[in-house]
This record gives sequence, structure tokens and C-alpha cells, in this order.
Amino acid sequence: MQQAMGGAERKGVAILGSTGSVGTTALQLIRDFGDRFSVTALAAGRRVAELRDQIEEFAPATVSLADADDARELAAALGGKGPRIVSGAEGLLAVATAPGTAVCLSALVGAVGLGPTLASIEAGIDVALANKEVMVVGGELLRSRATKKGVQVLPVDSEHNAIFQALQGRRPEYVRRLVLTASGGPFRERPASSLATVTREEALDHPTWDMGDKITIDSATLMNKGFEVIEARWFFDRDPSEIDVVVHPQSIVHSMVEYRDGSIIAVMAVPDMSIPIAYALAYPDLLDLGHLPRLDLASTGSFSFFRPDVEKFPCLRLAYDALRAGGTMPAVANAANEIAVGRFLAAEIGFTDIPRLVEAAMNAHEPSVYETVEELLAADGWARNYTASRAGAIHPGL
Ligand code: MG
Repeated sequence: MQQAMGGAERKGVAILGSTGSVGTTALQLIRDFGDRFSVTALAAGRRVAELRDQIEEFAPATVSLADADDARELAAALGGKGPRIVSGAEGLLAVATAPGTAVCLSALVGAVGLGPTLASIEAGIDVALANKEVMVVGGELLRSRATKKGVQVLPVDSEHNAIFQALQGRRPEYVRRLVLTASGGPFRERPASSLATVTREEALDHPTWDMGDKITIDSATLMNKGFEVIEARWFFDRDPSEIDVVVHPQSIVHSMVEYRDGSIIAVMAVPDMSIPIAYALAYPDLLDLGHLPRLDLASTGSFSFFRPDVEKFPCLRLAYDALRAGGTMPAVANAANEIAVGRFLAAEIGFTDIPRLVEAAMNAHEPSVYETVEELLAADGWARNYTASRAGAIHPGL
């Protein structure tokens, strides 16, 4: 325990995705700062044993699992003691709106997080958003509802967290552009002609960040960075022309804001997700993370920056295209990408089929202006079916 709060009430945290990489890092922080935070509710997917350990340690009042059978099994194992146990889509909503929650850490993977994240906002609960697909799919809707409710949506994604920090204390009209940094992924130096034969294992070997499988593949295709451009559009209310990407393989500069006087404010730190997660959970306070390795610039060596290669990594261009097309198009790009990445991870399609499938879905979709989650989910569902049927016709290695 660090940083005594002098008897102040602890901040109630609900976590959507408690057994994933962001969820477990957040729980480590909550463990370290137990006098500052309490856990109100946890939602896990299929990792029942891990959730059970988390229940024992953090005593949430509500927990959720993806599957109803897993939930029944957990209830039986706990013998009627412990938290209320829920499951499925309803379970996610219960966790997102759990009583006593001050901030909901939205850390599911994929568009499935949209409904529960909007539910937190409607319940007047601040959101620490790690699930970028939520912003990609429904950023415009999320932004307007959060503004209406007076709810804070704080970025956990390291780049957006850095930009959020670099914007503190300065007027929005002073900003010239936002610069997102990208590690470039594991194939930055690999010739474009050999990308078609990339294997699942090669793509999962990320140079600097240790993350879940889906986001690691998105980092290798640069779709992750493309989605971060869309995310930045809605987090910071900037035109796409004011958002740039620069490759920075060292992943020390987490992103930058260029101001109208020509100065650039960059945020640097060792690449450790604890830092942006802690920033978002504790905001506007700042936690003392003195136990983490510190950034020693003198021993870091040189930094390098490159322009991203959008010919070699078309996903980045596709994300800008989706953002400019607007309406339901980003939701379609996201859904097509989720299906394509799933098929790539199952070794059913090749690495370069991912952008091909996303582009095909985008070309076949006429974007429309949306007002409801249902309209977004309809576009999402269409793109999933369309992409699945096209992916089914692909035979890798032929
Ligand atoms: Mg990121």
C-alpha cells in the first residue's frame, strides 16, 4: 500500500475484461494502491479459475462471465457465497453499471464493448477506455452522449493517454496537429513481397509491447495505428487532416502534440501499460509509480522516426479512408478486420488477406449516418457476414 488518502473514500472501479492484459495490470495497481481504490464489479470471458482468484482477493459485488454454463459452474463452486454472478451481454451491462462505481475500465476486445461502455456513460459513470474498437465503431455517438451526461472518457491507450497529458492546461485552438507514434510492428524492415507468407507466430512476436493476440496482429498490419487515428478523432475532436502517424521503433515517445507556435510536447516513458492505466484510473490525481523501472535517457541510445509505409501496410490508409467516409464505415472496417484477424489467427487466410478483406467490405458498403447503436450493430453484422463468406473462399498457401 502506498499513498494514504487520509480516510477518504476509496474510488470504486468496475472492470470489463478483468482477466486480460489491461485488466490484470489494473488489478495489480489496485492491489498496490488498496487504500485508494476498491473493486465493485468484474467481467471476464472464459477464464473462470482466474476470475475466481480475483473474487477472493478483491471481493467485487458483481461478476460476469461470457458463458451462462461457466457462470452456473462458478456459482456452484462458490456455494452460494460471494458476488452476484451474471453472464453474457446482460452480465456486461450489469458490471458496467454496478452500484458504487466511479470509473469503469472498459478493456474488452472488439465491438462487443460498445453497449456496456455506453451503459456506463448513461449511468453517469466515468470511463477509462482501453477498448479502442469502441471508439472506432461508435466514437461519434460515445462522444456526444458523454458530453451530454457530463461524464469523462479517459484514454488508456498509451498514445492517446500521452496526447491527453500533452494537452493539459492548453487551449484546444492552440493545437496544430496530433502526432501518434507507432512501433512499426515486427515487419517494419521485412520486404513487402514477403508479407504474404508471414506466419501466425511471426506476427504474434511484437518487438516492444506485450499484449493480447488480436491487438498484436493489428499492430503488425498497422490497423492498430489506423484505429488509433480514428480513436484520436473522437477523443480529441480533431479533423483527420490534423492527425499524423510517425513510426518510432523504440516506443519511448508515446505521442506528441504540435502547437501553433511550432513547439511540440512529447510524452516519454518506458513502455509499460501500468502508466497510462494508472493515469486514467487516478485522474486527476497522479500515482507514485516509483516501483517501476525509470526511463534513463542517457542509456536509451538514439531515437529514430520514420514515415509509415502505407503501400506496404494498406490498413493504415484504409482506416483514414473509413474515417473520411464517416457514418457506419469505421464500424464496417472494424468488423471486417475482426473477422479477418480471427481467420488469420486460425491459419485460414494469409497475412496480406487481412487488408484485402477489409477493403473488400468497405468497397461493398454504402456508409450511412447513424443515430443509434442498433444501426451501428446492423452495419457491424453485415460486415462480419460479408467478410466471413469472402474469407471462406480463401485457401492459404495457394
Ligand atoms: Mg496504442
